[in-house]
Amino acid sequence: MTQRPPKLLYADAKGNIYDHPYLDMVGMNGSEFVLPENVELIPLPEDSRLFTMPAMPPVAWDARKKAFATLDRVREGKRSRPVQAVAAFMAPGYVRTLLPACDYSRKTTHLPLWSYTAVGWDEERDCFVVAATKVDSNSNWNPVNYDDRTLDPLVRKILQEIPGNRLLEQLARCAVDYHCFAAKNLFYRRWEAPLPTSPVCNSACLGCISLQPSECCPANHERITFVPTPEEICQIALPHLEYAEQAIVSYGQGCEGDPILQADTIAEATRRLKKATSRGTVNFNSNGSLPDKVALLCEAGMDSFRFSMNSVREELYNRYYRPKGYTFGDVLRSVHTAKKAGRFTMINYLVSPGVSDAPQEVEALLRFVAETGVDMIQMRNLSIDPDYYNREMGVSGKGIGMYRLLELLKREFPQLQFGYYNRTRENFYPPDLPNSWPIVEK
Ligand code: SF4
Ligand code: SF4
Repeated sequence: MTQRPPKLLYADAKGNIYDHPYLDMVGMNGSEFVLPENVELIPLPEDSRLFTMPAMPPVAWDARKKAFATLDRVREGKRSRPVQAVAAFMAPGYVRTLLPACDYSRKTTHLPLWSYTAVGWDEERDCFVVAATKVDSNSNWNPVNYDDRTLDPLVRKILQEIPGNRLLEQLARCAVDYHCFAAKNLFYRRWEAPLPTSPVCNSACLGCISLQPSECCPANHERITFVPTPEEICQIALPHLEYAEQAIVSYGQGCEGDPILQADTIAEATRRLKKATSRGTVNFNSNGSLPDKVALLCEAGMDSFRFSMNSVREELYNRYYRPKGYTFGDVLRSVHTAKKAGRFTMINYLVSPGVSDAPQEVEALLRFVAETGVDMIQMRNLSIDPDYYNREMGVSGKGIGMYRLLELLKREFPQLQFGYYNRTRENFYPPDLPNSWPIVEK
């Protein structure tokens, strides 16, 4: 049975969202409009958000004319009013396969740092649908697990138990003011907790969420302003490792600079943690710019590494990361160093349809996986204005399709894991790869 294509969504000036009576949903891959394939359309995940694309009219498929059409205005009686496109920001764990289709040339503002996904209305299923696929089945990060009414007393209690620790005070602010789920985990004493350490970075990413030049979009969070001592780190990380369920402590979780610039402090803290307990997982998320420091952290007992990159092509990497005092070759050396030391090695692959599935990128990625033997690719939707990103990356045309990219990787490298979240040591190499892809929603 052929499924009827989903309908176009559009919004009025007040942000009210409507489905169109006959125009169909379209997405974008790179700079081209495309019709979504059935396989890449899934119900909008719970706890996702819908956004309007300010001043940008949507592009749809007009099946009667067999052509793409820009919907500038809709009729209402004798009058007509302008409309704007709608995009989805999905709950974590899903990778988008298409960008929202709209006329980006009408854009009047730089869009804030969210990941924008094509969304439509499925009349048969009576639900919103997005062009996306699930890549991680870990449900720990579901917002229902984070109820602030139970959090506040725990934050007060732990602050009293460990007075005068600047890192703990920072994480209390992260949990209560920024509503950071990772920071909340520390106080709930469960799962993955963050250990921010670095006020500085040696990259200047176009879409850094913790620091943006004033002429660009605002950063979502403020960076930590100090470097904690190994004592401060151990004071809060050790109880987490010893008592938390599925315990992970992670450096470089988000709104800081890059922890690799504090590698000496982190190595010392990690050494002490590993001496004090054999329980739990210590993880390091980083731009991987300093391979010697990665070697030092391996020696200190780090269990896993996750290196971020938007592309495995040096030119595109440089355009996004704008590295200061290191090269893409150093990042590659870091990946090799971690892998050779037998550490669970992941890539935080910041993906965007049209860039990540471009034929040249696919070819480079297959080579990269074969040469490095990385264990896992965390598919992260790059949070940035998609039109700005495409222009900065020099995108013209479309890629092979994100879904096809995942299929190809899985076929070529059956042991390669996909995911969205970090893993505990016990789950690094699951015998039957339960977190493998595709993940079919029950
Ligand atoms: S990710 Fe950001 S908000 Fe969360 S704990 Fe780290 S620094 Fe704080
Ligand atoms: S590596 Fe991380 S902290 Fe540094 S500029 Fe990029 S996103 Fe920001």
